[in-house]
Amino acid sequence: MNILSQRLSAVRSSPSSMAGQKIRALRAEGRDIVGLTLGEPDFPTPGHIVEAAERAMRAGQTRYTDVGGTPALKAAICRKFERDNGLAYSSEQVMASNGGKQVIFNALVATLDPGDEVIIPAPYWVSYPDIARLAGARVVDIPCGSETGFKLTAARLEAAITPRTKWLVLNSPCNPSGAVYHDDELSALGEVLQRHPHVWVLCDDIYEHIVFCTQKPASLLRLVPELQARCLLVNGVSKAYAMTGWRMGFGAGPAELLKAMTKLQSQSTSNPNAIAQAAAVAALTGDQACVAEFAGHFRQRRDLMVEALREIPGLSVQVPEGAFYVFPSVQALLGEDGAVPMRDAIAFADYLLTGKGLAVLPGEAYGLPGHIRLSYAPAPEVLREGCARLKQACIELT
Ligand code: PLP
Repeated sequence: MNILSQRLSAVRSSPSSMAGQKIRALRAEGRDIVGLTLGEPDFPTPGHIVEAAERAMRAGQTRYTDVGGTPALKAAICRKFERDNGLAYSSEQVMASNGGKQVIFNALVATLDPGDEVIIPAPYWVSYPDIARLAGARVVDIPCGSETGFKLTAARLEAAITPRTKWLVLNSPCNPSGAVYHDDELSALGEVLQRHPHVWVLCDDIYEHIVFCTQKPASLLRLVPELQARCLLVNGVSKAYAMTGWRMGFGAGPAELLKAMTKLQSQSTSNPNAIAQAAAVAALTGDQACVAEFAGHFRQRRDLMVEALREIPGLSVQVPEGAFYVFPSVQALLGEDGAVPMRDAIAFADYLLTGKGLAVLPGEAYGLPGHIRLSYAPAPEVLREGCARLKQACIELT
């Protein structure tokens, strides 16, 4: 008898975690590897947040808390939605989890049955389809290439909806493309959703503060408030406050859904770390200057990266408007009859790693082959060295 469940056989290990392991192994062998795979700010967590965690420990806030978060954290989450998004939620409509990832896991596992469908525009963050499959659902991925700015259009959404559709997953700014939906695009998607009241929408807004477009990023619920009754907002402190290792995310949505998600969490991890909860309260309610400061650095890194990539033959780059990723097409470098035969972006990423000591992730991991994802979260000198290695490789291939 196979010890492993059939459910798990449908699931891949996270490609970014696997890449991280490979990089560490190569470095342990003494190889010089430039890593552009990591999706995390390289800044330390701001001092006032760390101090709040220290104070919490000394004050004995080291015990179990309510599963969905302390009253103080829930109040801070509600205030955040009011302040940043103009949205009203009560404490029964929010919860805290071990990262935004667990919020998504809770939501999909709590709601999906075998045969249910989840619409996920590609390129997508690696975990959505695997969590949906783990929950037994069928993933309907819609390729959204550079011709639509890597964004889902209303017509494509309309065509993908069936009576079994339970969720649409929207992520703006998007990992891996850096695409940001604008008002008219979200309004058009909202109109479609209004015609299909059985479809819920999961808005993953984890990069909401890391935006470089002139206008404030559009919000589906501001444009189509009626959807609040079937929308889950996913967010967290990892990216905005340089707190990836604290593992603290939160969600907001209808009370019935949040109650079910809390029940699931009560049987998996219980409450998220009590000390990290106190830190998250300080992050969400304290001085917000660090958020804009980090975003300013990411804008400079984006500009540096895009400028360097534009100099590289064979790449086609769309300028990202948010998050800290760029997703150039490498299609022109692929093929069996080039200087070095290159079947796909997976082979290209392997070539970069083994041949040039540069770690990137192939578009296949994100549901859109023919591209690579580069993170520009690392420090500028790392980005410069990474782009130099990439340029060398591309020159050899053209
Ligand atoms: N959503 C997106 C689009 C992400 O890129 C990530 C992390 O990379 C997450 C959610 C989860 O972040 P965390 O679990 O650290 O809050």
